[in-house]
Order: sequence, then C-alpha cells, then structure tokens
Amino acid sequence: MRRIYMDYAAGMPVDPRVFDAMRPHFLESFGNPSSPHTMGLEARTADDEARRRVAQLIGAERNEEIIFTSGATEGNNMALKGVANINRSKGNHIITTTIEHMSVINTCKHLTKSGFNVNYLPVDKYGLIDVDALSKAITDKTILISVAYANSEIGTVQPIREIGATARERGAYFHVDGTAAVGKIPIDVRKENIDLLTISSNDMYGPKGVGALYIRDHVRIEPIIHGGGQERGLRSGTENTPGIVGMGKAAEIAKQEMEWEGKRLTPIRDKLISNVLDRIPYSYLNGHPVKRLPNNANMRFSFIEGESLILSLDMIGVSASTGSACTSKTLEPSHVLTGIGLAHEEAHGSLLFTLGRSNTAEDVDYVVEELPGIVKRLRAMSPLTPKEVL
Ligand code: PMP
Repeated sequence: MRRIYMDYAAGMPVDPRVFDAMRPHFLESFGNPSSPHTMGLEARTADDEARRRVAQLIGAERNEEIIFTSGATEGNNMALKGVANINRSKGNHIITTTIEHMSVINTCKHLTKSGFNVNYLPVDKYGLIDVDALSKAITDKTILISVAYANSEIGTVQPIREIGATARERGAYFHVDGTAAVGKIPIDVRKENIDLLTISSNDMYGPKGVGALYIRDHVRIEPIIHGGGQERGLRSGTENTPGIVGMGKAAEIAKQEMEWEGKRLTPIRDKLISNVLDRIPYSYLNGHPVKRLPNNANMRFSFIEGESLILSLDMIGVSASTGSACTSKTLEPSHVLTGIGLAHEEAHGSLLFTLGRSNTAEDVDYVVEELPGIVKRLRAMSPLTPKEVL
C-alpha cells in the first residue's frame, strides 16, 4: 500500500546527510569533549562546529550564545525558570499566551506555585496576538514575555519583531519558542529582538533527543540542571556529541535549503487546503490563511471527529494528526483550538496535515481524491449530522 506521511510536526526522519555526519561520533570519535587528549579535543571541535552552524542559522552574534539541551521541552523549561528565578528581585510577572505548547504553559503554572504571576494573553480567531494588548499588559513587575514564533498546531506565525521591540522598550526579556519555525522560515534573533530562542533538532531533520537554547549575550539565567559545569555552567552533563553534530548538520542544511523547500511546499499546501475546502461542505481552515508555516494545513469538518478521520486515512495509507501529538492521548480538545475560539465539537472535528520533504503534489491529489468520501461516510454514521447535509 502507498504510504503518505503528513505528520511531520509529530516526528521527522533524520536527513541521510545528518546521519552520515553523526556516524563517526558513535563508532570512532567517541571521546568526551572535556578530556584534554586528542579524542576529547576531536569531540570538542565537533561540538563547537555544530554550535557555529546553529548560531549561523538564527543570526546569533556569538557561537557561545548557543547552549545545547535535550530538546524543546528542556529549552522552554530552562528559559522560563532560568530567567524567572534569577530576576525574582526585579519582578514576578510573566506574560505568555493561551496557545503556547504545554512545555511553556505547565512551566508557567509551576512558577505560579513559587510566587510568580502569569498573564495568558488571548489570541484572535486566527491565533494572532494583539501587540497593543500585550503592551498594556506589561507592568513594572514584568520580567519575561514568552511567545512561540509559530504555533505548531495551527501554523500561525506571530508578529515576533514587533513583540520583541515592545519587550525591549519596556525592559522585559523576550523568550521565543522556535520549535515549529526554526529551519522552516528565516529567523534573525538580532533583528527580531529575541533574547532567548528554543530550538529543536528533530523539527529540522536532525536527531531526536537534542535541541538548543539561544541565550543572548547580556541575558543571565539560573541553570535548572546542576553538575559538572558543561555548557558554560548553564547545562551540566556530558555533551551528546553525536546528537549535537547531527543538529549542527541539520542547521547547516536548513540554512541552505529552507527557502527553496518553503517555496516548494507552499503551493502544495495551498492546493491541499483549497481543494479540500472546495470539495467538502462544512469544512473550514484553522489558523491564519497567509501568516502560516509553509508546511501546515489544519482544517475542521463539522459533525465528525478528527480521531475517526485519522483512522480512516491511516487505512488508506495516509498519516495525519488531530493536533499536538503530545496531548493526543487525552480526550480534552486542543487548548490551541479552544484558544482561537472554537467550540469543543468544532475543535474535535479538526485534522492536521504537516507536510515535509517526502510530500509531492501527487500526495495531495490522492488525499483530495479520498477525503471527501471518508468525510461523507463518517457523517452518514454520525448522530450530529443534520439530515439535509447528507
Ligand atoms: N514547543 C512546540 C511548539 C512544540 O510543538 C513541541 C513539540 N514538538 C515542543 C515545544 C516540545 O518538544 P519536545 O517534545 O521535542 O521536547
């Protein structure tokens, strides 16, 4: 059976060039970067080269501003707890949004237990935040603003440069969860006034289990992991050199190829969205029509459930998602979809396609051909479908 993978936000393959770059660091050059001998030096040199490549991808001024982590969850924890705890004497107010990833929201909830106040700014129906409302929410106690560059479920890209300018003007640090955006759209931390940026390796065809946090030169954070003092004392633990090398290679490839890949995917994504919405009555786009990631198509279908759509698509070889893979085990609707104002039943009828390197226009033709029949069949079985729709 033909297999069409359209769930790239949940997991990506490692680029074969990345795999090749990692291989010697598993088998031959396995030294510890803290060791002074040749093997250790080899590992340190490899880590530093990867750091340079990640720094280049996001326009960091200095390579040392990149701290390697185990992934985006750790990066978000490190940024939020790190900035909050070190600035406690300056203020206890944090601003974020209602549609952040749970690694941001639950970290904020945790911080409230130790005396921090968190504002969860609402977003509009497209998932965009209102920069004026943000500005009004800032107080003299605000130490940190955290907003994702792009939402991984609905694909909406925020006005990051303006948010960053507002944060800078008002003296608050600006953390950006770049998990869904880095390596897909160009990001420049200096031009966009970003103080801290979370980066995930697997979201740009690098290995899982590795990520990075960009921490601008003047920004101080309190480490959350204590130990041997690796990564400038900010993230102790023996460096995962094979993973770091893989992430560096993935960053280098993304820098060279993301513009081309974005241009290739955008019309394919638009074809998927417009054909599905044209052919299926009572179907709607979730997220912003234009300000969205090139690979994201999130749509909802009245009267049916996303889970049954996914299972039906899987039976014909198509892998898609209802939303965040991280929360898909709960029966709660996605907080992102309720955050953009959808009723529970609307949120439950949502289907997320995230496209990637393997996808072609022919894949979209296949989905567009098959999906109307699947929706029709499921609607016929659903007690929620009005008779006139059948
Ligand atoms: N932030 C965003 C926007 C995400 O989509 C994810 C999940 N891919 C994370 C953070 C957490 O990533 P991980 O589970 O790889 O730590």
